[in-house]
Amino acid sequence: MTKYTLPPMRPELIVCPNAACGASERIGVHSHQERRYICHTCGATFSETTGTLLYGLHHPAWLVIVVLTLLAFGCPVPAIVAAFALDERTVAAWQQKAGTHARAVQEQVVCAGQVDLGQVQADELYVKTQIGPVWMATAMCVFSRLFVWGAISAHRDERLLTQVIAQVRAAARHGQAILFAVDGLASYPTTILKVFRDPARTGRRGRPRLVVWAELHIVQVVKHRTGKTVTAITRRVAYGSGQAAQEIMAATQVLLGVINTAYIERLNATLRTWMPALTRRSRTPARDVARLEARLFWTGGVYNFCHGHASRQGTPAMAADLTDHIWSVEELIRYGGPLRPLHAIL
Ligand SMILES: [Zn+2]
Repeated sequence: MTKYTLPPMRPELIVCPNAACGASERIGVHSHQERRYICHTCGATFSETTGTLLYGLHHPAWLVIVVLTLLAFGCPVPAIVAAFALDERTVAAWQQKAGTHARAVQEQVVCAGQVDLGQVQADELYVKTQIGPVWMATAMCVFSRLFVWGAISAHRDERLLTQVIAQVRAAARHGQAILFAVDGLASYPTTILKVFRDPARTGRRGRPRLVVWAELHIVQVVKHRTGKTVTAITRRVAYGSGQAAQEIMAATQVLLGVINTAYIERLNATLRTWMPALTRRSRTPARDVARLEARLFWTGGVYNFCHGHASRQGTPAMAADLTDHIWSVEELIRYGGPLRPLHAIL
C-alpha cells in the first residue's frame, strides 16, 4: 500500500489556521515525520489536519479519504470493512464525522445568501428503516441542480418542511424572483409563506407587520393515481402568478414544458442509489435519524462539490457560482483546514 502514502509536504499550499493570523506566506515545515508546519508570522505550529475531521484519527488520512469516497458513492459498509480490515464502528464514526462536516460546509457555502435560486423544487421521500418508516424532505435549485438542504423525520409535517424551507431561504440571494414547484402537500404553501417573509419597515412603534417576499410564486403539482399508476396531473398556483411562474420555469430549465417536480424526483433517485440506507433492500439499514442525516449530507456534499454533471462541465456548486472548480473528495474533507484549495496544486 506504499502507493497511497501522502505526497511530500508543501508549505506553499498551507495557510496558518490561527484565526488571529491566517498568514499564507512564511509557512515552513516543522516536522516531516509528524507532518507538522510552523507559521513564521505568529510562531504557531500545527498539523496539516488541524481543524479537519482527519485530526487525531488513528488511521492514515489516505485510508479515511478512500473509505469516505466509497461511502459517498453507496459502497456497502460490509464491503469496506472486509476490504480494509476495519471495525464497522470505525467506519460508522467516520461517516458520522463526514456528515456533520458536510452539513457545516453546506451551511457555510450553500446557505449563505449567494444563490440565485430561480426555480426551486422540493419533495419528500418515504424511507423504510430499522427505526420504522421515515420521511426525507429535500429541496434543490433546478438551474444548477444544486442540492440545497434535506431533513429527515418520522412525520411528514410542517416541522419537517420548515427545516428545509428555512435553509432554502438562507441560500437565496435577496431580491430575486423565486418559483417553488412542490407536490400537493397542503403544508408547503403555508410553510413557504411563513418562512419567506420579513418585517415591513413602517417607522411606527410596535410589532412590525410581516410581508411575504415580492416575486415569490408557488405551484403545486398534484399527481392523481390509480394504484401505483399516475393517471392524471393537475397544477395549481398556490401563491403568486401563473404567468410569472411559467417565465421563471422557462428561464431555469433546458427542457421546456409544463411545471413539474421531475428534477427533485431525479435527485432523490440519485441520492437513493448513492445511499444504501435509503434503498429498501439494504444490508446496512440506517438505525437512527442522525445517522441517516449524516449520510444524506455527506452524499449531498459530494454530489454538490465533487461530482461533475454528465451533461455539463462541472458540478452543481460551479453552476450555482459558489466555486470555480470540481473539488476532490479530499478537498471537501479538508475544507476549513489549513490546506489551500487543491486545484492550485494540480
Ligand atoms: Zn500564523
